[in-house]
Order: sequence, then C-alpha cells, then structure tokens
Amino acid sequence: MVFQEAPPVADDELPMQFLPESDEQKKSPESVLPWKILVVDDDAQFRHSLQFALKNFVYQDRPVQMLTASSSQEGALVFARETDIAVAMLDVVMETDDAGLRLVRNVREILGNTETRIAMVTGQPGMAPLQTVVTDYDIDDYWLKTDFTAERLRGMLTTRLREWQRLRAINQARRGLQMIVEGCNAFADARTVADFSTRVVIELTRLLGVKEEGVVCATEDRRGSPYDACIIAAAGAFASAQGKPLSCLANVAVRDALADCLIQRRDLTLPHGLTLYLASQLDALSCAVYVEGVESLDETQQNLLRVFASHINSALVNVSLISRLDRMAYCDSLLDLPNRNALMRFLDSVMQKTADSGHSLILLDIDDFSGISFVLGFEHGDELLRELSRRMQAQFPPPAVTARLHDDVFAVLGPSDMIAEERLAKLSSTGVDGLPGRFISLGTARLDLAGFHGSAQEAMAMTSLILKSAKQAGYGQSRNYEFRMSGEAKRRLAISEALHLALDSGGLSIALQPQVRLADGVLVSAEVLARWTLPDGTVIAPSEFICVAEANGEIVRLGAQVFQQTVEACCQLSRLGLSQIRLAVNVSVLQLMQSGLLRGWLADLAAAGVSARNIEIEVTESVAMQGEIGILERLKAFHEVGFSVAIDDFGTGYSSLARLREMPIDVLKIDRSFINEIGADGDGAIAETVLDMAHRLGLLVLAEGVETEQQAAWLKARKCALVQGYHFARPMPLEAFINFARRH
Ligand code: C2E
Ligand code: CA
Ligand code: CA
Repeated sequence: MVFQEAPPVADDELPMQFLPESDEQKKSPESVLPWKILVVDDDAQFRHSLQFALKNFVYQDRPVQMLTASSSQEGALVFARETDIAVAMLDVVMETDDAGLRLVRNVREILGNTETRIAMVTGQPGMAPLQTVVTDYDIDDYWLKTDFTAERLRGMLTTRLREWQRLRAINQARRGLQMIVEGCNAFADARTVADFSTRVVIELTRLLGVKEEGVVCATEDRRGSPYDACIIAAAGAFASAQGKPLSCLANVAVRDALADCLIQRRDLTLPHGLTLYLASQLDALSCAVYVEGVESLDETQQNLLRVFASHINSALVNVSLISRLDRMAYCDSLLDLPNRNALMRFLDSVMQKTADSGHSLILLDIDDFSGISFVLGFEHGDELLRELSRRMQAQFPPPAVTARLHDDVFAVLGPSDMIAEERLAKLSSTGVDGLPGRFISLGTARLDLAGFHGSAQEAMAMTSLILKSAKQAGYGQSRNYEFRMSGEAKRRLAISEALHLALDSGGLSIALQPQVRLADGVLVSAEVLARWTLPDGTVIAPSEFICVAEANGEIVRLGAQVFQQTVEACCQLSRLGLSQIRLAVNVSVLQLMQSGLLRGWLADLAAAGVSARNIEIEVTESVAMQGEIGILERLKAFHEVGFSVAIDDFGTGYSSLARLREMPIDVLKIDRSFINEIGADGDGAIAETVLDMAHRLGLLVLAEGVETEQQAAWLKARKCALVQGYHFARPMPLEAFINFARRH
C-alpha cells in the first residue's frame, strides 16, 4: 500500500457517499454531477486510502462521488440501486475466494449492467482471474493493491471514465435509434413539425450526451432569406426564441451557423456545437438543427449521428406531410380560420364535456354572396369573406371559435352569453370598403346547446337546416332554434335519417322525363330524376330530400345509386333498339368534386357496355360557374371522353358570356321560371334573351317546365331546339318510358 496519508476509520461503515450534496450542487445542472465510483472491498483501510487519494480528483470539471461497500453482497445492493456507476473497483477475495468475480457476473448477467467499467483489485498475487473470465465479463483492469500509486489510480480512472462516457453515449444512441426505428413511433404521434422538432432536440442532445440545449429552425421557402426561417423548437438557453424568425436569435454565432447550414444544405461543425441539415425530399420543407456543447465527435458518434439524421429525415417527411394534411384537414386556407372539421372537433369536445354546456352554435351565411362576387368580381368576394372573418373574430374572441364551413358559410361556437344579439348585429352594421353603399346582409341561425340532446353532427345538421329556412325566408333573416316549435327543422332531420337508411337499403329509384325535339316531336333524350317512396308508400319529393342530401353529404351516395340505375336503364334501352336515346343525370357539386368520379363512371360504363355518349351530365349554372374549385377542368374532362354536358336552371345564376364560351357545354336548359312567364302573365323576355344569346354561341337550348301548348308554340317560333315539361310528358318509371319511346 502506498497511500501513506490514509486516515483511520471505523470498520462497520455502510455504503455511503462521500460527497455530501451541498446546496450549491443541488442547483447546478447535470454537467457538474459527480462521477459515481464504487469501491467494494472488505479492507476498510484500502477504501479510505482510495477516498483520500481521489479527494480532489476532477475529470471534465466533474468531481468524483465515491460509493463504498464492504462485501460483495453489499456491493450488489449498491449496483442494484445506482444505475449510473461509471467505474467499480472490486476486491477479488472477500467473503469467498472468488466473491468479487461472482459479483461481476451478477452485475453483468443478472443486473444487465454492461456499462460500468470494472477494475479488479487484489491484495494477494496469484489470485488473478482467468483471461476468459476477464473477457467474458468485460473486466478492464486487474491490479495488485501494491501496484497502486495515486498517479496510476488517476490515470486509470481517467481512461475508464472516458470509456464509460462513450459506451453510455453509444447505448443511449442505440436506445434513441431504437426509438426512432420502431416505426418512427416516438415521432409518430408528433402531429406537427414543431412538436417533432422538440423531440429531435431532446433525442439529439441525449444521443450526444450534452445538455438539452439547442434550436431547430425550418423554412418552406428555399429561395427566401434563411434568416426568415422560423424557430420551431428551442431548448435551454435558446428557449425564448421559439416561434420567432431566425433573425431574432440573440446568439449571433449560432444564428449565422444555422443560416449557413440552410444555405449550404449540409451539416456544419462549430467550435462549440453542431448543426445538422435536414430536408424532406417530398416537399419544400428544410430544417437546420443546432445542438450546443458538442466539441468533437468520434467516429462512432458520427456514424450514429448520420443514421440518426437519416431517420429524422424520413420521419420529417411523414410529419410535414401529416402537419400539412392536418392543416388541410383543419384549416381554411383562404381565411386561415378553422374549417368545418376543426369546428366539429370543438363542437364534439364542448358537447362531451357537459350535457348542459351553456354554449351556442351560430351559423352565418352572406346573403346573395354569389351575386355580389359576380357583380364585383371574385377578388372582391374573397375580400368580403376576409372582412367578415375579421369582424367575427373581433366580436367573438376566444374562448369563442370562429370557423368557415364552406363558401360563405361561417360558424361561431362559444359561451351562450357571449354570443349576444348586439354582437351579431355588429357584423353587418357597417359598410364594407369596395362595396359601395352595401352592407353585409347575413342570414343567421342559432342553436343553444344547453338542453340539446344529440351528437355534434346532429347539432350541426339541425343548425344548417335552421339556416336554410332562414335563407328561404329572405335576406337578413335570423332564426333561433327553439325546441318547442321545430316542426320544419325536425322534419328535415327526420328526412336526413330516413334517407340514410333508404340509401343503405337501395330504397331509391329513378324516373325518366322525356326531352323532345320541338321541330319534329322526336324523343331524343330524357332527364333522370331521383324518386323516393317510403316503405309505407309515402312519396317524398326531391325538393325535400335533395337539399337535405346536399346538406349532409349523402348526395354522393345518392348520385352513385342514381348513376348505377341510369346505366342499367341505358342497357335495357339499347337491348330494345333504343340506344339513340341519351339519359341526362343531375350531378351535384359534391359529387363532381370527388376525385375518381370520372374514372369510376367510365369503369361502370365499360362494364355495362354503354358508351359515354349515351350519358349527359346536368350541372346547375351556379355550380358550373364556380371558378376556383376546378369545376371547369372537371367538366372538360367529362366532355373529352364523350359525355354531353348540360347547364341546368340557366338564368338563375350569374354566368358571364365570356365564361360560357370557355365551357364545354352542349345544352343550355332555360329554367322553368322563365318559361312560366311565357303566355298569360308575362312576355317571356328573359327566355327570349337566353335563346338569342345561346344561338349566337351555337348552343342547343332546352326549355324546362313547358306546361302549355301556348308556351310550346312560342318556343317553336323562336327556334328553341328541345323541350321538357308536363305538356309533353311527366317523369315516369322505366317501363312506362319504354312504352312512351316506342310510340315516339
Ligand atoms: P331539376 O333538375 O330542375 O329537374 C326538373 C324538375 O322539374 C323535376 O322535379 C321535374 O319533375 C319538374 N318538372 C318537369 N316538368 C315540369 C313541368 O312542366 N312543370 C313543373 N312544375 N315541373 C316540371 P323533381 O323531380 O321534383 O326534381 C326537383 C329537383 O331535384 C330537380 O330539379 C333536381 O335539381 C333535383 N334532383 C332530382 N333528381 C336528382 C338527382 O338524381 N340528383 C341530383 N343531384 N338532383 C336531383
Ligand atoms: Ca336537372
Ligand atoms: Ca332544371
């Protein structure tokens, strides 16, 4: 023994730590945490000599905390309790000749601790463990106590501490990688890039064994200034920069490094940190990550980091997609407001919290919005929507939520007392710039959720129906739902439910209404109209159920069933040699917006051996004129493959001639209301203008709702090509239609 100054000690001491926690230490961060070193030796004198020798030992600015045990059994307890013992010095001979070695085996095999560096020490030469044992149990050193000097001891510890640190980092990295590899599970529930980035900082700093201190910034605009990139995650000293542009980062060196990283698109090592460049190939998002306190990376760390980065990268693709989808799914892109889905989520959570929530749901709809947009231009229409959205957010600040459901329909969900009539009135009380002399006129519907029993969907459906009835009553109408007098709304809700069942069980049929060439009375085509008869024989008119189906989205299923039956009717007609008769189906905007509608239809037609030329699609004028949502492109696609296209209810919307000219239109259907004016109570001026205009554009005109001989004659005189109406034939079932066709 060479530790001359070892102080005397009592022999019965228990494992204990020799570095009492001072207050100062409690406050200090992880980097000052001491290295834990365990000495297991039944020789108290030796333990104290070690303690004494290491009293002032410091490695990487961290002192040593020495744990001691006087038997292998005690030692095992300490191992079980402390998971981060860096180095253990174990006496070989204690209770038995091989007690120390047994302890090692227990530590490695039973406790599964492969990290702690182990030095075996013995006072008796000749007790050296076998080489196989040394390698099997990953024992680093074997020392004779007599060989120890303070200097050697420190040297040994320095080496072992460094090794332990590295091993631990690798193991941590492995755990980190495992976390990512496991299906990017750790990140899978990160729904947003920001959330994901926070986890990246944590994982990365953990991997590198440094403090949780770092920044992630991201940009979607690679051509813009990198300093405009947004700091989406920040930890430690950088935390306050979260959410700000990179240019606001106080640490100039880090700020510039991140900017460089984004520009050069590669990883950079700094004197005190590391930047990683991450980019997802699928979209324009690129990220730079800075981690503080990484001085140099050994090869293993670099390799791990590379693997780690590529995993982050692929996870990032997923996350940025998810967050995009999330945005798309929950955010209205025009107004940057929550959309219908988001509102439904809020509504659901409000209604789930308490049955009697004291909240109200308001729906708003701008009166004659399409008219205003048409007259003033679509940009003004958008501006009007923005203005209304600003007013709504000002009148109904959080906790109320303002959302845009679709088109010009908005919703507010908030505490009932907050949604007062006066505030609603303020939305439309002042004029709008660029809308000279005009005020926003709004239809509103209100449903107080207190006392409403039903789901969020039902509440929404109910409020939509209330809004519809307000709109039908004219401009500037508001409706509050009162549970006592809900006749009409209730009926619509009942229709909605019954329709759902009818569509499940194929309870809808079709009727065909002949369309006749006026010049010679030849039957050229027929309009397919949905028919719905309840099991008890009650007939429900399309005017009642089509708008409900459009409100609740069932129109898509309804349209599909009508189309299916139309294809079957075509088959039957052509079997009877009547294949020249074209069938016209009504297509609603929701249907048309489905991706894959055309593909599906073509497949159905091909399967049935029916040509697209046998089918006409009728879209109403207001649908056809909706520019932004790509209706025109869709109609063109249908037209190109042979479908004929008719514009329904023409004259009721706001078509411009210019727009009409670019549209793939075959038939223009003059709305029934204008045909009505012909004869006794009107002069048919509008019908005349439409006919004139259509002829100039070379379009075929069909007059709808021709009920009298007089109207037919008037139309014939003005060269209207086709007619449809009770005067010629009513809508009829297929069998009757076949008979009709044979007669004509
Ligand atoms: P629409 O497309 O304007 O269809 C013409 C409507 O006018 C039909 O009403 C038809 O029965 C009626 N009608 C035909 N000739 C005359 C007449 O001389 N006088 C009068 N007063 N009415 C006449 P119906 O079948 O009640 O359909 C109403 C509306 O329901 C249709 O108007 C259409 O918008 C919608 N609809 C019907 N079936 C479908 C469908 O399968 N899909 C979609 N999306 N909408 C449909
Ligand atoms: Ca129609
Ligand atoms: Ca029509």
